[in-house]
Amino acid sequence: MAVDVPLRRLFEYRVPDAFPLPESGSRVQVPFGRRTLTGLVWSHPAADTDAPARLRDVIAVLDSAPLFSRDDLALIQFAADYYHHPQGEVVAAALAPGMRAGGDARAAQPYWSLTDAGREVDRDALARRAKKQVALIDALAERGALDAAALNAALKDWRRVAGTLVERGWINVEERDTDGHWPEPFDATPGPELGDAQREALANITAQRGFGVTLIDGVTGSGKTEVYLHAIRECLARGQQALVLVPEIGLTPQLARRFERRLGRHVALLHSELSDGERTRNWLAARSGAADVVLGTRSAVFAPLMRPGLIIVDEEHDASLKQHEGFRYHARDLAVWRARRLDVPAVLGSATPSLESLDNARAGRYHRAVMADRAGGAQAPAIRVVDLNRHVVDDGLSHPARTAVAAHLDAGQQVLVYINRRGFAPTLICTGCGKMAECNYCDARVTLHLGRNIMQCHHCGAVQAVPKVCDACGEPYRALGEGTERVEQALATAFPGVGIARIDSDTTQAKGSRDALLESARRGDARLLVGTQMLAKGHHLPDLTLVVIVNADQGFFASDFRAAERLAQSVLQVAGRAGRAEVPGEVLIQSHFPQHPLLTTLVNAGYGAFADAALEERSQAGWPPYSHLAVVHAAAREPATAQAFLERLKPAAQAPGVTVLGPAPANMQRRAGLHRFQLLLQSPERGPLHGLLHRLAPVLEAAKTPKGLRWSIDVDPQAEL
Ligand code: ADP
Ligand code: ZN
Repeated sequence: MAVDVPLRRLFEYRVPDAFPLPESGSRVQVPFGRRTLTGLVWSHPAADTDAPARLRDVIAVLDSAPLFSRDDLALIQFAADYYHHPQGEVVAAALAPGMRAGGDARAAQPYWSLTDAGREVDRDALARRAKKQVALIDALAERGALDAAALNAALKDWRRVAGTLVERGWINVEERDTDGHWPEPFDATPGPELGDAQREALANITAQRGFGVTLIDGVTGSGKTEVYLHAIRECLARGQQALVLVPEIGLTPQLARRFERRLGRHVALLHSELSDGERTRNWLAARSGAADVVLGTRSAVFAPLMRPGLIIVDEEHDASLKQHEGFRYHARDLAVWRARRLDVPAVLGSATPSLESLDNARAGRYHRAVMADRAGGAQAPAIRVVDLNRHVVDDGLSHPARTAVAAHLDAGQQVLVYINRRGFAPTLICTGCGKMAECNYCDARVTLHLGRNIMQCHHCGAVQAVPKVCDACGEPYRALGEGTERVEQALATAFPGVGIARIDSDTTQAKGSRDALLESARRGDARLLVGTQMLAKGHHLPDLTLVVIVNADQGFFASDFRAAERLAQSVLQVAGRAGRAEVPGEVLIQSHFPQHPLLTTLVNAGYGAFADAALEERSQAGWPPYSHLAVVHAAAREPATAQAFLERLKPAAQAPGVTVLGPAPANMQRRAGLHRFQLLLQSPERGPLHGLLHRLAPVLEAAKTPKGLRWSIDVDPQAEL
């Protein structure tokens, strides 16, 4: 039995004769110490083994049929082994949240449908007064009974309208058992004819008999999504399900609508912003096979599938596909493992593939399909570097950038100003002694948020009052550097009357606010967009013709060996937002280091050339993908506690072929009041590294940990070392 506790082992229980024997992959309730927990049946002992005398009894059997198939369980087992993480916690990550605590696998849900009176409404007459009512009636007439998730995907503000129509007796709401109720297929909208490069990429995927990985290395706008759609359609035609993973929740509604329109199927969404009920229902539809297409973020890689036929990972380079806390798995890597186990094709797509995937393609393990041009005749944007040493800069914007913004606005187009820092300014600096405002709990500065009039730490979230004067010398502070708020303010002053939307995690806290802002960007109400990373990924804004990258310099001199790769990816991803339709785009990158080889290679020769150079550097330095890494972290209130814990562990962390470095302080030693240290394990081969971790995990678990000390294992770490 796998039980949700932080121990790397399974537990045995007895099933009382009164209960049906639950199959592997079913949930049960079990006593654990003095608590009652949900467990997942893993296996049954062979019939002739004697049960140990003092087994505790299962309290209840929750599922009459297994939730996970053998293949699904194999994935969970592999993930637990590979990431050296407790099985029970991996099971918890694989379950829909509503089911972890033992929720019913057949929860009822409200469904809306037309009544007879509703079907007879004169929609043309109504359309003049109440467009939204007609839209809702149309949707229900076309697709039958729909639940909240389906309506959310199809219409905005439908709930209020639905209330009105229920009062009029035109529609009905009723609770239905969710199992087996999934919207019927509907008519699909045809798409564009594929171009040559797209056809070739598709042929590659469909030529796979069984497992094979296709890496679609296609510039933004080259039509990767179109290729996915065709591949999915062929998968559906074979009677199989497709699983699609994306790194960001923000991308799912837009992508889901496009998939639904084009495939004529209701898509099962899986991400953390859905209610538990919706998520459980979609999860169950994936498992039962009712949903043909499953689209989700990271954890959807574990979604149980009845008849899997294709796995796609979009934006495969994106660091959000790796979980950075707790169970630190990489969804892309597990997706490829799962496809191999299921013997089905896998597709990884990106405009800026990870160096790991490019290396896999070079070695012949993946097939690389290059799509170098934008689809449908759109042109690649022209990229220009603005030397910040040679121009006056005001609130982060250089003179050439301001001129370009004015020109594009005058031409009636849309402009995106990208700055990867929220808040007004990254910190305050004392005009007298140069002291900067710092967090009380982290080795970090605190950011000035003028809107909320606070100083906030972006690492631990702690908030302070905005200081009037320096506590060391009494001189006044001034804001140092710029964030999204400051740039927004500067643009509002420079371009009065032009609609501005700022899109960062401060403006998108409230449910639905991100979609609303993106919608206003898409409609063109906001012609000036200021945003962080959140705006850089995958959004299609047809009128956007200018992208200004306020500062590209943060990645040049970082100690982390992945910093250059991340910088190149984020620059090209945000640049890719420009000029996706008829009008060609322009990109301005502001930098203090315009001659930096990384920047010149990227701008003049493109991502491929950059990646070749970066792989060469990695190879010489022996970093991944030319070696494999794992980190043992320890954190405690006192630095000596964490450091000594790892020192004591170190003698056990020795193995031939594995280099052990540390213990050393983490990149930011103190965070949220904890001092963090790490032991870095490096090996040219995976085998010895995992052999060592396999021996080390039980040692760690058994170690007497000082009070308040926390440790963890991170395999293939992506965070800064
Ligand atoms: P990507 O996923 O690579 O960014 P998309 O698949 O979203 O690219 O395509 C970008 C745009 O080009 C979309 O508006 C899409 O409809 C259009 N498009 C894609 N393929 C074609 C094609 N073969 N012919 C014409 N337009 C296309
Ligand atoms: Zn902090």
